[in-house]
Amino acid sequence: MSDGTVARPSSISGLGLFATRDFAVGERIAPYVGRRLTAPPAHPSPGHPTYVVELGPGVWLDGDAAENPARHANHSCDPNAELIQAEATEDLWLVASRPLASGTEITFDYGFSLAESLFHPCRCGAPACVGRIIAAPLRPALRRHLRFSRRRD
Ligand SMILES: [Zn+2]
Repeated sequence: MSDGTVARPSSISGLGLFATRDFAVGERIAPYVGRRLTAPPAHPSPGHPTYVVELGPGVWLDGDAAENPARHANHSCDPNAELIQAEATEDLWLVASRPLASGTEITFDYGFSLAESLFHPCRCGAPACVGRIIAAPLRPALRRHLRFSRRRD
């Protein structure tokens, strides 16, 4: 099930998920599995990793489980994979959004809200890193906010 990936220490954070072979764009890297929740998860506390994915209205998946090696994939502001829900089965998969060479760390966009991002600094190292784990569409707003805050300091 974890063929093609291995979890090992990452320069981004904790353990990361790394490719042990090449992947083509669009290729499934690993399933993202866990327990389905019908109530919203507890608010993430500072410094604690969160593995909860919102599947749809009123449904969440908690990927904090040993059988889910994909949970080790770190967030990046410049990711090389996406978390995609298969239409037929509703299973979640990490899918390569760029060609991946063996040995590459696999990252995706955690898609955090502005509120969530306040608890989660980002150390992905990408040139465009905004310093917080936050969904790509919200990053320009966060950049404006950070610039504004800085100016008032
Ligand atoms: Zn970043």
